[in-house]
Amino acid sequence: MTIDPKKCVACGNCVAVCPMGAIHIDPNTKRATVNQDECVECYTCFRGMSAEHLNPTMVRTIRKIGSWLRWRFDPEPDVCPTAAITEQELVWPRVVRRAFSDPVVPHESTGVHGRGTEEVKTNDVTNRVGPDEAGFTVEFGRPTIGVRFWQIQEMTTALARMGIEFEKRNPVTSLMADARTGEIRTDILNEKILSAIVEFKTALTNAPAILRRIREVAKTLDTVVAVGVAARCDEEGENRLEETLINEGFFFNRGKTNLGLGRASLEIVQARATVG
Ligand code: SF4
Ligand code: SF4
Repeated sequence: MTIDPKKCVACGNCVAVCPMGAIHIDPNTKRATVNQDECVECYTCFRGMSAEHLNPTMVRTIRKIGSWLRWRFDPEPDVCPTAAITEQELVWPRVVRRAFSDPVVPHESTGVHGRGTEEVKTNDVTNRVGPDEAGFTVEFGRPTIGVRFWQIQEMTTALARMGIEFEKRNPVTSLMADARTGEIRTDILNEKILSAIVEFKTALTNAPAILRRIREVAKTLDTVVAVGVAARCDEEGENRLEETLINEGFFFNRGKTNLGLGRASLEIVQARATVG
């Protein structure tokens, strides 16, 4: 994202809108500028603010007269009065920033909006996580901290050495140079994004060791790391994950139980078999 210095009147409205704190008013030029290294191309400023298309010279003159006369007024906070915020054509590798930061842009590798796949929420249909397995999501960067790919790589390479299997359809996996080692393409390592989710599965018995490793690596990263782990319930609605984690000294809090309503009922399966 850029700001057209010919149009900007330094009203400061866009400064508060940027979740990365990447916009500031330059006291020398008296124009807003975007720190290109910190901007994650989330488009919040460009799309989230109304553009009034007022004449910049007129607005600057009125603002100057207003400051002489010590006028005080409350401008609309979500308006760029002169439509100075300008999108730029994104090329590789910068285009990766937008794919992971702008929620209305579908990720090319998945074709879906967002940063991950459908995860284990649809496990009753996909069967991605089997009876003796644990499915993990490790999220980086939220809220409004952001993360660089080299930080994600610190985690993925550490986990890859522990007998895990990265989800193939996940956007981060698609950007790995080698999914066996967890190494990410070198040309995007310094790209900053709003957030990303790494997904993988492992043996249920491996879950406590994985959680400990995530905790160790997270302490070395200057961003937020949030972890989710899921396992299948048995017919009584219980699962071994709870017991395993409690035995290993983890606090267990069941966040969500999916009932399996996406799975065809026994009657439908039998009816299909009869028709077939
Ligand atoms: S909202 Fe528009 S005019 Fe105001 S500081 Fe930002 S870019 Fe400049
Ligand atoms: S695109 Fe997003 S990160 Fe970049 S300047 Fe605008 S609001 Fe900030």
